[in-house]
Amino acid sequence: MAAELHHFIGGSRVAGTSGRFGDVFNPATGRVEARVPLAGADEVARAVRCAAEAFPAWAATPPQRRARVMFKFKELIEREADALAAMVAAEHGKVLADAHGSLARGLEVVEFACGIAHLLKGEYAENVGTEIDSFSLRQPIGICAGITPFNFPVMVPLWMFPLAVAAGNCFILKPSEKVPSAALRLAELLSEAGLPPGVLNVVNGDAEAVDAILAAPEIGAVSFVGSSAVAEHVYATGTRAGKRVQALGGAKNHMVVMPDADLGLAADGLMGAAYGSAGERCMAVSVAVAVGDAGDRLVDTLQTRVRALKIGPATDAEAEMGPLVTAAHRARVLDYIGKGVAEGAELVVDGRDVALQGFEDGFFMGASLFDRVTPEMTIYREEIFGPVLSVVRAGDFDEALAIVNGHQYGNGAAIFTGDGDAARAFTAAAGAGMVGINVPIPVPMAFMSFGGWKRSLFGDHHIHGLEGVRFYTRLKTVTSRWPASMGSGADYVIPNLK
Ligand code: NAD
Repeated sequence: MAAELHHFIGGSRVAGTSGRFGDVFNPATGRVEARVPLAGADEVARAVRCAAEAFPAWAATPPQRRARVMFKFKELIEREADALAAMVAAEHGKVLADAHGSLARGLEVVEFACGIAHLLKGEYAENVGTEIDSFSLRQPIGICAGITPFNFPVMVPLWMFPLAVAAGNCFILKPSEKVPSAALRLAELLSEAGLPPGVLNVVNGDAEAVDAILAAPEIGAVSFVGSSAVAEHVYATGTRAGKRVQALGGAKNHMVVMPDADLGLAADGLMGAAYGSAGERCMAVSVAVAVGDAGDRLVDTLQTRVRALKIGPATDAEAEMGPLVTAAHRARVLDYIGKGVAEGAELVVDGRDVALQGFEDGFFMGASLFDRVTPEMTIYREEIFGPVLSVVRAGDFDEALAIVNGHQYGNGAAIFTGDGDAARAFTAAAGAGMVGINVPIPVPMAFMSFGGWKRSLFGDHHIHGLEGVRFYTRLKTVTSRWPASMGSGADYVIPNLK
């Protein structure tokens, strides 16, 4: 029988009370392994109350002590790495080595948060006026919330709450209802690391819980990662209610392959970037823009490799690509492939009919490769979020750049070339928040910041790194003088240094 999951509120497991549940599948077998409670407004309100109670003492805890909780949390994640990666693989479907990789990238944010005492330091200016000094501080917002997508059950939550909590905030995490188990385990580990009850709460749910978060006046900041339509809704609703919001959305990442590129390296880069995690990555490369005579050579090299891609469950150590997250998502991806064919793209490798012996009920499909895709086609314009790579042909660098910059999304963009001049021009002009030069997936490290442009991010702050510290804190600037230096009488002229 499917296990019944819970929330984590006020430092304890709490059963759902709304009466609504969602199914959590093992995508490799297609079986329902757990039922996750889908919170209503009451459960969100309970988490808000616990967070509000915990906030004053946590905010007053010296940052170095808060950092020590993060150091311990890091140790516990390392201790539990195998179990956490197995949870990610079991509910998402990505292969185990990739699940471990995503865990490592999340852990880097915890490491960054261990330096919070240094990161919160302000500025000091002496004698800004006669015997007047000025200094600035960064203070926590209060209660922050995070809403995360299915494709990184550990990494994306770790982009958010370690930094928010280390900065002195309380946090309510609403993970994707498709992959809730790892987030619940992270909250238990942080509690074991010494985090006081109520500082981090996990409320499971769907749109109803998100709308309750957006409506709660006590929540001052919301981080969202997911599809652009929902990101835009979260941004518009949250900011209208006076919250600060960073809402990271969907993507269609392009990789330009110049004629002088090392085609072997470019093909390797594309294979991992397009088909790793079955294309269910916001930084997946889903469009290769082949310039000049690179096109035919690239498609030739790619098609052999795409056909040889090893598909299997996460438990198969040899597998390079696992299943898609749900049957519904696979049906959506298959539908896109049909549309690509109908709109005239050349389907070089068709992954629609792949079935795995022993896993017939799993959500597997093969890798697909389209050539001669054009910017009007649906498969080009929309995010597919599956193992489908489109090759678009461009005559020269300028045409390739115009294709990249004409797209509605601007998360990542990469160029493969041996020409420093082309790479430099691309870096300067690419309309994307993250650029790769001979690096297909330019995901910034935790001490840099992650975020896109255009419809890939709504809001002003990228996530983690110094941008994250700024997002989860408010700036206060103090101007001070002491009576010995004060003049006598009122001054009706705005203070100035003339
Ligand atoms: P999604 O937008 O369906 O769901 C994201 C979160 O929003 C989930 O927690 C979900 O419960 C909630 N949600 C869903 N519908 C909602 C609604 N109508 N109102 C309020 N909340 C709602 O995204 P997903 O399918 O879980 O994840 C895949 C998407 O996330 C892709 O578009 C991918 O590009 C994007 N993504 C972006 C980044 C990034 O950094 N830009 C990173 C990872 C994933």
